[in-house]
Amino acid sequence: MKEKMEAIRSSALEEIGKAADSSELEVVRVKYLGKKGELTAVLRSMGSLSAEERPVVGKVVNEVREVIEAALQDAVSAIKNREKEQKLKNDVIDISLPGKKNFIGKRHPLEAALENMKEIFISMGFTIEEGPEVETNYYNFDALNIPESHPARSEQDTFYINENMVLRTATSPVQVRYMQKNEPPIKMISPGKVFRSDALDATHSPIFYQMEGLVIDKGITFSDLKGTLDLFVRKMFGDKVKTKFRPHYFPFTEPSAEMDATCFVCNGEGCKVCKGSGWIELLGCGMVHPEVLRQGGIDPEVYSGFAFGMGVDRIVMLKYGLDDIRLLYESDMRFLNQF
Ligand SMILES: [Zn+2]
Repeated sequence: MKEKMEAIRSSALEEIGKAADSSELEVVRVKYLGKKGELTAVLRSMGSLSAEERPVVGKVVNEVREVIEAALQDAVSAIKNREKEQKLKNDVIDISLPGKKNFIGKRHPLEAALENMKEIFISMGFTIEEGPEVETNYYNFDALNIPESHPARSEQDTFYINENMVLRTATSPVQVRYMQKNEPPIKMISPGKVFRSDALDATHSPIFYQMEGLVIDKGITFSDLKGTLDLFVRKMFGDKVKTKFRPHYFPFTEPSAEMDATCFVCNGEGCKVCKGSGWIELLGCGMVHPEVLRQGGIDPEVYSGFAFGMGVDRIVMLKYGLDDIRLLYESDMRFLNQF
């Protein structure tokens, strides 16, 4: 028995010495100390020994086990140290390598134009109001004097969430909501995202940006509308730009007009951007329809007002001479880095 234990001890120590890493050490541990290990087998066989032999053999087995356990422990920490040192050696920072570049982003042209437009209106005393992008039929259509039969309400033109909810087709619902909660005088703009069920092409996008404005007070006339919008255009595009108004139809204003500005590329002489006419169609506007005022809880006998709306995308495209609206939504860095 003693020779057998001596053999186990020396072969275990030899194998521990040879183990190259922690997984090999684990194999050795299982081989000798595991449930089916050699030393465990000896302990199991002790039942067949006599009462005098048992404590003697038990003592030897325990001594051998302690020696093997101690050797394993030492080997484990030696290997761990070695592995740590190796890792430190491999992880050396090469300070001669060029660093990672930090790219600083910049404003998207749409966002920059929107910011610019807001600043101009704030300087004229307007407040900025926001509303939900998912809107009820009532606020998106009924309250704006757009009847059930109007083509704008068809599924070809509008994204319906369900029978009563739509993705807003304009930012005008914000104006109605604001009128219902606030007393005149009102002087607000509502910039934001709007949605139409249009296929994406060079001039159409199912998502685009709008900025609408509303002014209501006693004695507001069409001259106030003209003065305000004329000033806006000159601040936005330069002092040389002239404006003109053409009669138009919108359900929520009466009378309604479209405003043109002299082309800021050719100063009205005629070029590709203005298609030779010297004029660019900029926005729609008009005096708020009495019915819309009533829906907003405002007495049209006492108050009057004007409203206007413009496509922010269109203004950005005109300003930078872009011929494809998709460029504004593709997030192509080669395009965006030019601004
Ligand atoms: Zn032009």
